[in-house]
Formats: sequence, C-alpha cells, structure tokens
Amino acid sequence: METGHTLTLYYSNDNIHPESEYQLRRDCLVGYAKEVVGLELLVPDYQPEAWHQMIGSAAGVFPLIPEAVDYEEMLVARQKRCRLCYSQRFTALAEAASERGFSQISTTLSISPWQFTELLEEELSAAAARCGLQAHFVDWREDYPQSRVLSRELGLYRQKYCGCQYSRQEADIEREAARQRRRHE
Ligand code: SF4
Repeated sequence: METGHTLTLYYSNDNIHPESEYQLRRDCLVGYAKEVVGLELLVPDYQPEAWHQMIGSAAGVFPLIPEAVDYEEMLVARQKRCRLCYSQRFTALAEAASERGFSQISTTLSISPWQFTELLEEELSAAAARCGLQAHFVDWREDYPQSRVLSRELGLYRQKYCGCQYSRQEADIEREAARQRRRHE
C-alpha cells in the first residue's frame, strides 16, 4: 500500500454479541478483503465465553435502568471495560502476528470517534511490546466522515453499536435520550 507496508487483516472480535452480529460483520469483511482490497484475512475461532470471563466484574451493573442512568458513571465503567477489551483483542493480534513473523501491528478501531483513542494507543503499544513487535498507531478520526460515505457507496454493513451486549444497551439508551432531547427542543 501507499505507506510501503504489506498488510494482512485480522478479525479478532470475541466481544461481539450476539453471534449473528459477529457473523454479519465478519462476512462483510470477508467480502471486502477479497473483492475490494484483495488482502489476506485471518479469522481466529469465535470465543465469546472467554471474552466474558476476562471482562468479569468490569462489565459493570447490567441491565441498566434507562431512567436511572448516570452518564458519568456509565462512561467510567465503560472506560474500564473497553481497556480490558482492547487489551484482550490486541494481545490475540500480537500473538498471531508474532507467530507469523510480522514486525508491526495496527488497528482500524482508531477511526471511530466513539472509542477511547488514548487507551487504544496505550493497549496496542503494550500488546506489541509483550510480543517484541512495534505498534503502528494512527489516529484516523478526521477520516471518519469520509469512511461513512465510502462504506455507504460500497454497500458495507454499518453496525449500530460497538460490539458487546453492554454497548448495545448503552447505545439504545443514548439514542433514546437524544430522541427525548430533540423532542423538547
Ligand atoms: S464497548 Fe466496544 S470496546 Fe468497549 S467493551 Fe464493549 S465491545 Fe469492547
């Protein structure tokens, strides 16, 4: 590619719930990798139970009660959970990259304004270092609007929540709160 890197894609998403959503996103990427960009794609086994065990109590208190949600608390709990989630997925990525003799790892999560960019960079660097690799981190957020346009043009599946069952409920609550705000404006 333009930067001189040779890329291999890695789809590591034990966090995604339910499995049908995992499959939708995976199949979309399989098609994109093959038909649009012509890149190799590695897909490890889907192990949601391992992800849940790892998250443990960091998941916070769920289900949330919409009318009693404290947004500050929700954000703090989410940060804790997401750091663990990044770490688990980047570790899987780094181990797979190391086994295959790659020198660097990166992530596409950093295009999302909904992710914790600093935590992403820290956890990517930590996972790379544990496996003797370099982290190639790029903050892609300014390209986010363009990515939305492109994904629509290509007819790619567009997710409505980050991935885990907790983020699904948080997204529903945030959407409903935004709807209520608009109604009262
Ligand atoms: S919100 Fe997203 S990044 Fe955070 S724990 Fe859930 S799936 Fe992982």
